Amino acid sequence: MCGVFGIFNGPEASKLTYLGLYSLQHRGQESAGIASSDGKQIHSFVQMGLVADIFNQDNLQKLSGNSAIGHVRYSTTGISSVKNAQPLVINYARGQMALAHNGNLTNAAEWRERLEKDGSIFQTSSDSEVILHLVAKANGHGTIEQTVEYALSKVKGAYSVVVLTPEKLIAARDPWGVRPLCLGKIGTGWVVASESCAFDIINAKYVREVEPGEMIVISKSGVKSVKLAKPKPDLALCIFEFIYFSRPDSMIFDKSVYSVRRELGARLAQETKDIAAGADIVISVPDSANTAAIGYSQASGLPYETGLIRNHYIGRTFIEPSQHIRDFGAKIKYNPVKDVLKGKSVVVVDDSIVRGTTSRKLVKMIRNAGAKQVHLAISSPPIISSCFYGIDTPTKKELIASKNTINEIKKYLEVDSLSYLSLEGMKASTGCQGRQFCDACFTGKYKIGCGGC
Ligand code: AMP
Repeated sequence: MCGVFGIFNGPEASKLTYLGLYSLQHRGQESAGIASSDGKQIHSFVQMGLVADIFNQDNLQKLSGNSAIGHVRYSTTGISSVKNAQPLVINYARGQMALAHNGNLTNAAEWRERLEKDGSIFQTSSDSEVILHLVAKANGHGTIEQTVEYALSKVKGAYSVVVLTPEKLIAARDPWGVRPLCLGKIGTGWVVASESCAFDIINAKYVREVEPGEMIVISKSGVKSVKLAKPKPDLALCIFEFIYFSRPDSMIFDKSVYSVRRELGARLAQETKDIAAGADIVISVPDSANTAAIGYSQASGLPYETGLIRNHYIGRTFIEPSQHIRDFGAKIKYNPVKDVLKGKSVVVVDDSIVRGTTSRKLVKMIRNAGAKQVHLAISSPPIISSCFYGIDTPTKKELIASKNTINEIKKYLEVDSLSYLSLEGMKASTGCQGRQFCDACFTGKYKIGCGGC
């Protein structure tokens, strides 16, 4: 769970990167960093914490130059430490290079072992560093972009990467297209970002997505698109980006997240007509399910109400590592609106159930607030398998739907009814005709492999 950003030929590039990262903060809250280029040298600053807490006038001033890349991180491989914070910057035979990566490489461990046997000394425990070692190994094999191309041809799994050299900005996406990456224009410069919401904040214009298996090289001589590898006939766009992870005001995979999410809710309403017919109101678990709940309301005719208030001054509860802290987090994160819920039969729309711990607490809260009935409706199918491509999910055995039937989950959550959107309904909601998704978390089918999971 990470976000990447890059800008080429933008005045005050590091400040624009700061703003871009600010918009991508939801993609990772553990650490953040910026590397900038003044045309000769790369400057960088990375630290643990939130973008707004890390950067200030002083350190941004030192990140001089017209090009920059940035990263926000939530660790899915490698421990949470400043050593693993990105962009990673190296000094090697050809000078300097900085890299920021979103995704998980499924063969990083094998490469690391091979490279270490060969004498490579790794500075971090993150899978992303493998790419830099492979780039260094390819030295002598043509242009900088050719060495990046070589490195990327050796790794498997998910990567949306931005690479900065003193003179170039390179953006590339794996042939499966697992994680999003898009291209934008700002004045005479160019921008790339995990999600288009990072363009809006700096008044950059969305151009298109970086295609799966495409590498874009931006330099003084212009923009060059290189086909990295033949896109796989079957793509593996992460469907969970639409369901939960991306911001609804973003374009990803060339689609509006808001429209897809609203459609997920609408289809859920169509699939649960009987339940909607007997209910008084529909509410969402804010904020990630708001759009799906609006879609549910529009399709079912049930009034949409704000039944839960989310405190915005704490992070996502999952970000806290221990169960103890997570339990505590759920209580301070939500508060029910008693006036809305009292005496009502309520449809509660959430985007997903992971462990079931938050949902169970929320249901209790909603009942204690006076709701007569609680019908939980989930705008995705049951999550039965872990993600190995960059979304933080617990181990399979911690996923409540991996070992319980829907009826058992319903009993555990103490709801009057529990409905999940069908797999077909979910896929149809994307409107991405002919585009294939990775839905391994819902099906257990890892079509791109998962490094021995
Ligand atoms: P739980 O009830 O404990 O299963 O948690 C479900 C909540 O977690 C839902 O409201 C989701 O919006 C949210 N969620 C789903 N996936 C993730 C994730 N990878 N990280 C953090 N929160 C998530």
